[in-house]
Amino acid sequence: MSEQKRKPLMAANWKMNITHLEAIAYLNKLSFTLSDKDFDKTEVVVFPSFVALRSVQTIVDADRLRIKYGAQDMSAFESGAYTGEISALMLTKLQTHYVLLGHSERRAYHNETDELVNTKAKLAIKNKLLPLIAVGETLDIRKEGKAINHTVSQLKAAYKSITADKAKETVVAYEPVWAIGTGEVATDEDAQEMCFEIRSALSNMFGDEVAEKIRVLYGGSVKPSNILGLMEQPDIDGALVGGASLNPEDFIKIVRFSEQG
Ligand code: PEP
Repeated sequence: MSEQKRKPLMAANWKMNITHLEAIAYLNKLSFTLSDKDFDKTEVVVFPSFVALRSVQTIVDADRLRIKYGAQDMSAFESGAYTGEISALMLTKLQTHYVLLGHSERRAYHNETDELVNTKAKLAIKNKLLPLIAVGETLDIRKEGKAINHTVSQLKAAYKSITADKAKETVVAYEPVWAIGTGEVATDEDAQEMCFEIRSALSNMFGDEVAEKIRVLYGGSVKPSNILGLMEQPDIDGALVGGASLNPEDFIKIVRFSEQG
């Protein structure tokens, strides 16, 4: 395996699955199975639903777990009359580390634009949350040969007016839309090609030093059986895992990808 410059990050996006009671059982399973050795090697993050976040925070805090957690979205507004929304401050008060922004399901089903993703990213940073920004092309765009242009343009828009100093702690997830929840994973080479392009664009925006620090994840039908090949690519620093993360045992295998080598 090529030498890792950045600490690998494995993120479980539970989407609209896992109740708060199931979240407690899931966290217990992770904490019982994963050791300090695993956490030293790999950062482990779960993205529960909003209503499970408090339970996750309580367990992580009480048992001093090294598991981190993030929100799957947040409001673009600071506070006020926005029924049903969750603010960045509410997440910060739960010691939430990350917030997932620009997921293709948010873009597709909630009409989230690049501008909105950028507004949320700036608000997240202001509230000391680390944005995990998802970008990626649809199948049509890939077939037209415009995947790189499209994905890099989403990336640039998401980071507009964000300084290098703030950008260095953020995370990017390359998630080709056609690979999400379809069982169809990008080839290791295609995923690497795009993650390299993402890093080059980050380097143009923020300089080499910062671009070398930002972790770029791949997401799209990641499973225990395909994680190793992806992680062997020099510009892939981890995975954003949907379906396979719903089973804690599979997620643990993904976290322990290096033991497959
Ligand atoms: C995701 O939702 O971010 C994702 C990558 O899903 P899946 O792993 O199920 O393709």
